[in-house]
Amino acid sequence: MAKLLKLVGVVLILGLVAGLVVLLPAHLQVRGVAAELPSRADLLALRTEAGPSRVGFITTSQQDLDRGTIGHNSVIVEWPNGDLFVIDAGMDEKSARDFGELMSTIAGASSPPVIHGTLAELMGADVARVQGVGFTHLHIDHTQGLVDFCASRGDGAVALQTTNQKTLHNLHTSEGAGIVDSSCLKAVELGGDGLVTDDRFPGIGAFNLGGHTPGSTLWAVALADRVLLFSGDITNTKASIDDDVDKPWIYSYLLVPEDTGRTAEIRHWLRELDGDDAFAVVVSHDIANHAAVLSR
Ligand SMILES: [Zn+2]
Repeated sequence: MAKLLKLVGVVLILGLVAGLVVLLPAHLQVRGVAAELPSRADLLALRTEAGPSRVGFITTSQQDLDRGTIGHNSVIVEWPNGDLFVIDAGMDEKSARDFGELMSTIAGASSPPVIHGTLAELMGADVARVQGVGFTHLHIDHTQGLVDFCASRGDGAVALQTTNQKTLHNLHTSEGAGIVDSSCLKAVELGGDGLVTDDRFPGIGAFNLGGHTPGSTLWAVALADRVLLFSGDITNTKASIDDDVDKPWIYSYLLVPEDTGRTAEIRHWLRELDGDDAFAVVVSHDIANHAAVLSR
């Protein structure tokens, strides 16, 4: 019995050490991204007459979990000349089913995901008008659909990425980074601190949020009447911003290494902006939030 207890103890300690070796660098890395958040004035300065005229969205798949529905949404920004910019690519059917199985294991999903189609399938002929793609972060559920997108689109569009998103990867973002780097998209790095822009896409700004992943990016899209703030997976629901709710401890410390101090700071900042008529916050996995703010 004593021998068995000793063995269990050794296994537990080895498991803990292995976990630390994998997770500690990721925790330290994500804590290194903490630049001052943009001011209201910085965000409003994105407004331009040349800016986009419409922002819609597509839900590629969704699944009911214990905590509510997780939607895999892509945002489509449109300019009057017909150019499109897409934020996040969702997944193809196989990856969505694999992801759904993972959710069944860790998030209590009792039914498989409902698959609506890939980004490219659901966009149809409009893929040819996509001139640029951005990602809120490089987790697989936001990047894998790029493979199918590229099969339809071919060359000609760019990937806009902040320097952090382009260069800082961890155990959960390396695969997605590989998909982006080997895709049909021409890499465009938005260097510098603060809200960064690209002349090809007037009215759009990107900012290094960190918090959820080291490359987590806020996409701000300035329409004539308000500035839309796409906050990615800083929270999984809009309600978590409204009610100031942390993700579960096991998620932020063991499953997805997050900087919970930073995610709290970002939540408070987003809540204040969302309470201002000039802004609206859109949370990546929250379908109802997309439907309330955007057009289909
Ligand atoms: Zn996600």
